[in-house]
Amino acid sequence: MSEVFDIRCWFKKPDELLLVSGPCSVESREQLLKTAEGLSLIPEVKVLRGGIWKPRTRPDAFEGIGEEGLKWMREAKQKYGFLIMTEVAIPEHLELALKYGIDIIWIGARTVVNPFSVQELADSLRGTDIPVFVKNPMAPDLKLWLGAFERLATAGISCLGGIHRGFASYEETPYRNEPLWEIPIELNRLRPDIPILTDVSHICGCRELLQETAQKALDLDTSGFMIESHYKPEEALTDAKQQITPESLRKALGELVIRQPNADKKDEVILQSLRKDIDKIDDDLLNLLAKRMNISEEIGKFKKKHKVTVLQKERWKQIQENHINKGKMLGLNVDSVKEIFEIIHKDSIDRQL
Ligand code: PEP
Ligand code: MN
Repeated sequence: MSEVFDIRCWFKKPDELLLVSGPCSVESREQLLKTAEGLSLIPEVKVLRGGIWKPRTRPDAFEGIGEEGLKWMREAKQKYGFLIMTEVAIPEHLELALKYGIDIIWIGARTVVNPFSVQELADSLRGTDIPVFVKNPMAPDLKLWLGAFERLATAGISCLGGIHRGFASYEETPYRNEPLWEIPIELNRLRPDIPILTDVSHICGCRELLQETAQKALDLDTSGFMIESHYKPEEALTDAKQQITPESLRKALGELVIRQPNADKKDEVILQSLRKDIDKIDDDLLNLLAKRMNISEEIGKFKKKHKVTVLQKERWKQIQENHINKGKMLGLNVDSVKEIFEIIHKDSIDRQL
């Protein structure tokens, strides 16, 4: 790496993808420096991550190497020119991180769930103006995520970023943490000033899903990635299944297809015409919806007059089945078809009451 990356500049104009990589946990000097050496061959990696204090579910698991690891992070920074980044959960972590020259911090998903902890960190961050990334809380609670940014901004942190790491779920899904892409998209709509990195490692929980998930994040216009790497991933003390070697990371990056937010001039013409078709269909859909609601009101009047209940469960069940079958036949997403008609049906009932 020739020059140290200007992170403040990136926050002002985050058009270049920011790539953060490094081990889940810093385990030994050898592990960190060998991983950092591998990463130094990938020019896109600007920031070296490493967990020094690990929030673990069970008390007997490896809870991080502690202060010693910060010395190795500092060494990797001096040797390879990375910016270095770690997770802080309490003010004491922050104090040590600053002492060893950590450039960027992140607040973990388990800490963001607790506004007392976030406030405590915000108070101790006052006056530092170090760049801070905030992971999404474990549960899909956008307000809590937004609240954390507000607390940090009030404490004077001007470089604020988000990290989308997925959401814990009881449902069986292929992911370790369900992505629920709509949440980072909504955060971006509400706070376009906050760039969001995608932590594909904690979303996927396994190496196999990383590539397609990273591609999806790119297609949804992510501002960058956090990807865990380890020179011997199978031997990692934490998150062994999801870490990859720097070499695999290099290959994976090469296979990503970077799309532009806007098409080329000639492709733009095709896109415009397709969009026109879509706009026309949306318009038709709205007209049909209005027509449907008018008929629904007519039915409502009829039911009132003839003293018939508004909701007839059997009929509703029958229509739902018809929609599902037709939706399947048309190759539509059956869950979405169900949801759309549930909303329409609810509105119809409200009009008939
Ligand atoms: C991590 O990045 O290693 C970590 C513990 O992440 P999260 O807070 O997303 O679980
Ligand atoms: Mn991890």
